[in-house]
Amino acid sequence: MADCIFCKIAAHEAPATIVHEDEDVVAFEDLGHRAPLHVLVIPRRHVASLAEADAATAGTVAAAAARVAREAGYAERGYRVVTNVGPDAGQSVPHLHFHVLAGRPLGWPPG
Ligand code: 5GP
Ligand code: ZN
Repeated sequence: MADCIFCKIAAHEAPATIVHEDEDVVAFEDLGHRAPLHVLVIPRRHVASLAEADAATAGTVAAAAARVAREAGYAERGYRVVTNVGPDAGQSVPHLHFHVLAGRPLGWPPG
């Protein structure tokens, strides 16, 4: 989708530190870096949010998020996967992304 920063990252048209990619998903470090591990996992194909995603897309992105956490060494210690949908949740980029956060105690409930 034109003018979508995450589509541009997925197409290697905008810079990002990519930690995993395959034909379906791209995982890259979040610029905001809210935890020692803070990676965003996105589908390559533009989908606005979880509300718009079909089950296959949602499942593929979720499985990739778990893989990123495992490969970063957080399988035992634990991690959080979260996706914001819409204004009350603070979604700021309208391309589905799962945050993967780890490496410090994560407060609950969030925000
Ligand atoms: P949201 O607020 O939509 O749940 O999360 C969007 C996230 O994308 C934020 O944590 C923000 O730091 C990150 N972000 C926004 N623009 C860019 C960018 O151009 N590159 C990277 N790596 N992260 C970005
Ligand atoms: Zn997009």
